[in-house]
Parts: sequence; C-alpha cells; structure tokens
Amino acid sequence: MYKSGFGRREFLKGMGLVSLMPLGMVKALGNQLQGQFTSNSFLIINAQIISMDKSVGNLKRGDVLIENGQISRIGNGLTSEKEVEVIDAKGKVLLPGFVETHWHIWTGLFRSMSVKPPGNGYFETQQEVGPHFTPDDMKVACELAGAEAIDSGITTLHNWCHNVRSFEHAVASLEGVEASGVRARYSFGNAVGRGSEEAIDFAPLEKLKADWDNYNNSGLFDLGFAWRGIEGNIEIGTYDYQRASELGLPITTHASREGVIARLSKAGFLNEKLQLIHGMQATDWEIEAMVDAGSSISISPFSELRIGYGFPEMLKLLDKGATIGLSVDTTTISGNADMFAIMKNILNITNAMAQDEFQIGAERVLEMATIEGARSLGIGDRVGSITPGKQADLILIDPNALNLAPFTSAVDILVEAGQPRNVSMVMVNGEILKKDGRLQKQDAQDIVNKANSAFERIKSKV
Ligand SMILES: [Zn+2]
Repeated sequence: MYKSGFGRREFLKGMGLVSLMPLGMVKALGNQLQGQFTSNSFLIINAQIISMDKSVGNLKRGDVLIENGQISRIGNGLTSEKEVEVIDAKGKVLLPGFVETHWHIWTGLFRSMSVKPPGNGYFETQQEVGPHFTPDDMKVACELAGAEAIDSGITTLHNWCHNVRSFEHAVASLEGVEASGVRARYSFGNAVGRGSEEAIDFAPLEKLKADWDNYNNSGLFDLGFAWRGIEGNIEIGTYDYQRASELGLPITTHASREGVIARLSKAGFLNEKLQLIHGMQATDWEIEAMVDAGSSISISPFSELRIGYGFPEMLKLLDKGATIGLSVDTTTISGNADMFAIMKNILNITNAMAQDEFQIGAERVLEMATIEGARSLGIGDRVGSITPGKQADLILIDPNALNLAPFTSAVDILVEAGQPRNVSMVMVNGEILKKDGRLQKQDAQDIVNKANSAFERIKSKV
C-alpha cells in the first residue's frame, strides 16, 4: 500500500514532524491525522472487479474509490482530491464481501460436537451445553465466529442467538462480534432450556432496543428477533411474534420440518419481514406462498446434509423466484464458516437434483452469497455489491495460489476452487480487517487460546 493525493507523509513533513520522530510514531500520528481528514478512505487500483451489480458490470481492470467508508466511484484511472490510502490490487480480484444469513455463532465453542462423545445428537448436545454458558463464554464464542467470518471473507453475518440467558449474555454477544469489525444482525431469541410453554423474556430485548444507539456498533449492527415459530405452543408462539412485531423488528424462524411453511401461511405469519430457514420438503404451493408474501429463505447446505434433513429444495426455490441467502447455521455440525465451500455445495446439490450439469451456474450461486443474501436480510440497499453509494464491504482474492492456478474464469474458479486462505484483504465499512492474509483487528492466536479455555470450562460442566 502507498499513499496518493494529499500525502500523509508530505503533510507531516509540512508540519516538520517526519524528521523528529521514529517511523512507528509517525505512522501512529498519521493514523490519528487520517481520522481528522478522510477516515476509511481508499483508492483500490488495478483490480479485476466482479461487482455483482448489473449496472456496474465486471471490469477486467479497474479502480474503486472509497470515501468515508462508502463506495463513491468505480472506473478506470480514478484519482482523488483528498488524501486516500492507495491499494494496488494488480493481479487480484475484488468482490463484495460475503453475506451470511443465519448462524448460531454462540455454538462455535462446541465445534464438530467436540464437547460430548460421538453419539449425542446436535440438539441434545446443545440442550445440555447451553445452560452452562456464561456471558464470558458468549463473548469468546462470538469473537471466534467474528474472526472466522472475517478470515473467510464474510463481511456480514446473522448472529442468530437462541441462548439469551440474561441481558448480560446479550451484551456480551454483541461485544464479541464487535471485536471482529464484521457487520451483523443480532437476532435476539430464546434461552436453551426454556420450553415452548413459556414465553420469551422480552425485558432484555426491550432494554437493548431502547438504547440501541449505544449497542449498534456505530450502525454496523441491526436488531432482529429469532422466533421459535408456532410448532410448539401456538398461543405462546403467536404472543412472541406479536411482541417482536410491536418492536418493529425483522423476524426469523426455522422451517426445518415438512409442512411448517404451510402452517405459518395459514396462520397469517408470512410477510416481507419474515426470514424462513431451511424450508425442508417445501411444496410448490408453500414456496409460492412464501414468495408472494415477500418472505426470504436461508439455506444451510452443510447442516441440512449433516443432520439428515435432506436436500434443500433448490430447484423449486429457483423456479419460483425465491430470494435465497446462504448460511453457516452452526459450526457444531457444519464444521466451519467457509462460504466458498457453501457455494460449491449449493452448485453441486442443485445440479445433482436436476441431474443436469448445467442447471445452475457459478454466477447465480455467487449472487446468493452476496447481493441476494443482502436482499434476503433487507439490507440490499447498503451492501452486497460494488455499487456507488453502498458501504465498502469488500474482499480481495489473491489468485496466486496452488489451489487456484491456472486462474482463468474468475467466477467459476472462485465458486468451485476458492478457499478462505485465498482471501488476502477484507474491508468492512471501509475498515481493513484482514490484510496480506492476516487479521488486523484481532489476535488470532489469542482468540484460539480463549476459545480453548472456554471449551475446557464448559466441557468440565457436562
Ligand atoms: Zn439454525
């Protein structure tokens, strides 16, 4: 990286500061000064640009100007009047960051069911482990997930929190995610152990909502409600839904079993503020009802396969024009948060179900992982594509790697061969969170150590 325009070093020279200070101090002062002038402002030059915006198109070689965290211009030979940091992306591919749409990030501390011997199913393990989570454990789990997200190019995640044991647990979850710098929706939900006969305790949610300006991480977080649905007690489910609706929150719920969408539709719950998850065994009629009502759907192929739900109804969803987002769900059974692998899995499942090599292309799957995922969360006007006016949530891929060579058709290769290690730079809201393949805001080793300690403590309790 180097500077252009009103150079920081020139500015410091003008102040007579450069010669007086060691380089480290100049850099530190420069960062402070940058904050006064053009914070989160960059000129990315010479990148192959895959914009995911049809009006912008793709550029074999182009530049993107980012001012105050926002994409302001896309083109060739761009310059800036203001001081900006220049990133020479020659030979690299610039994409919008991935938008993840449903992830129980608190469960990451028992990744791959490691807290219990094999044989205990996912839900049983979750029920046994969940009550032992302290606010500190929530924070560590969320730091881990945020770091893993950034490392793998996910710039937005949906923190689907169904273990809110207290207000302190909720705040700890927000703080953990905040440490990573990732953009997120926090969907407040149930606490493990509270049965379907008992309404959710809304007091912590109301407290958060009332003081959201202090919890929203300068606008990077928005608030939602993780709803249990009406499969348990319909009166309690309806009550929970109404309370969350009164707060004006987007609502998300699982439709893991046959007939759930039909029951939600008949009871009048489908609407544009509702996100459905999985939609297993959904019929054409159910998907039409969902699409007509404006509800979106989140598909988590790894967990759906691993837990034996079956194949996601990709052919019907595509045929009916559903708004589809992709998701991690839980690393307890998905293993990790690799959006490249999720995309590849979706492509392969869709073609397998159609028994047609050409049923779906890589570009369509990449849409789901970016702009369509953003639309599915109702934030498509802010992120999901490289579009002037949107927030600068961007990733750079370095194709100079064994698993990507020879690098020819970028979209096809990224969907079929890309891996998190190929993500060289990650930016959220114009803040660089991964650079040269390394996290910038968090200490990866420290997070691993903290996760191991929290895991040992929880394991000793169950
Ligand atoms: Zn889930």
